[in-house]
Amino acid sequence: MSVILFAIPFFLLLIILELVVDVRRKTGYYRANDAMTSLGIGIVSRMMTLAHQLIPFTVYAVVFDAIAVLTLPDTVWVWVMAFIVYDFFYYWKHRMGHEMSILWAAHVVHHSSEDYNLTTALRQTSGALFTWIFFLPMALLGIEPEMLITVAALNLVYQFWVHTQHINRLGWMEYVFVTPSNHRVHHAQNRAYIDKNYGGVFILWDRLFGTFIDEDPDNPPVYGLRGALKSFNPLWANLQVYSQLCRDSYYTRAWHDKFRVWFGRTGWRPADVAARFPVDKPPLSAFKKFNPALAAWLTRYSMMQHGVLLCGTLFLLLSLASLSGVQQAVLVALIILTALQIGLVLQQVKLAIALEAPRLLSMPLVLASAGFSSAVIFTAAVLAAVSLLLLLVAVRQAYPSRPLLAPEHQPDDYVQDAVVPSLARETKVE
Ligand SMILES: [Zn+2]
Ligand SMILES: [Zn+2]
Repeated sequence: MSVILFAIPFFLLLIILELVVDVRRKTGYYRANDAMTSLGIGIVSRMMTLAHQLIPFTVYAVVFDAIAVLTLPDTVWVWVMAFIVYDFFYYWKHRMGHEMSILWAAHVVHHSSEDYNLTTALRQTSGALFTWIFFLPMALLGIEPEMLITVAALNLVYQFWVHTQHINRLGWMEYVFVTPSNHRVHHAQNRAYIDKNYGGVFILWDRLFGTFIDEDPDNPPVYGLRGALKSFNPLWANLQVYSQLCRDSYYTRAWHDKFRVWFGRTGWRPADVAARFPVDKPPLSAFKKFNPALAAWLTRYSMMQHGVLLCGTLFLLLSLASLSGVQQAVLVALIILTALQIGLVLQQVKLAIALEAPRLLSMPLVLASAGFSSAVIFTAAVLAAVSLLLLLVAVRQAYPSRPLLAPEHQPDDYVQDAVVPSLARETKVE
């Protein structure tokens, strides 16, 4: 955890740098809605990890005490070996995460971005409750729990920088390491690229086990999922595939199919439910990014709320030790609620927009009732007041009142007329 917390400022700096390069080169690899959703999903994932991180650590420690065969010294070479061995098991965890439905349901969220930039790396799952099982053999080898946690964090931090389209092929590194080029392939939905390049740090495993494919300049990657998410809701991004698996296993007739829905090959569906509930998977040539129109000021409002969300998350992570259990739970709940709300605002869900004012007004009150310091409550109140003003401007732009002299127009017509031209300036429309 501390390794990742330490890395967060570097992540943010690199994202800003990539954004500047993107604007200067006019490459259009960033869309505000998709990038903000990635950030929201990353924040929710951090919150969920806070809630359940002790479970895998405790289980690994118990297993380590019971089955460790070797007693390894605390030397550089042992750390290097642990790092490499971890990546080997990561390869198999990641591969199974793509090949078995129940594991794909957790991993899918990382692939749901339809852009490919450094924020894509933040799209981490909130639901990987059982994937630590893949690393239990490391306990047998005598790799200490603290060492496992550290090499796991370093592995995750390494994977951040490869999520960019601004770095081309890197010569000899392409043969040994996971690079932006070979990881772009992993995120593509092109048929030739599906289920390829699973490595975390070393691409050697893919070359060894037959899952490697090179990026082909004649077949540029198209990012995203074949069964598109079509949502900016960070909770739904985590639940989409679970929901389909639940429905399929509930409605399919044969008992062995109810089991196979969860543990069979990803994509397999019983014939009866596939006919009854077809899933829309248009051909790649018909793929269009999910990019609903959003008024310019609602986009700015959402950006501000993501800034607040980020500050709240950093405050929570940095002051964990000094907060009571109730305060931690309240902050986690407020952060998840905010991420959910802003995801829905990005989709211009009217109910979510209507609930924004009560959310903002109640936030300082909730913090006060949880016993936070007056400095925290004051900061929250100021942010809520500024946010309310911005919200007012945004709502007035998105839903202008109906002019008296044009009774035939419906409010939504005005949204269309007023919003779409300004959106073209605010976010790139594909
Ligand atoms: Zn993957
Ligand atoms: Zn990735």
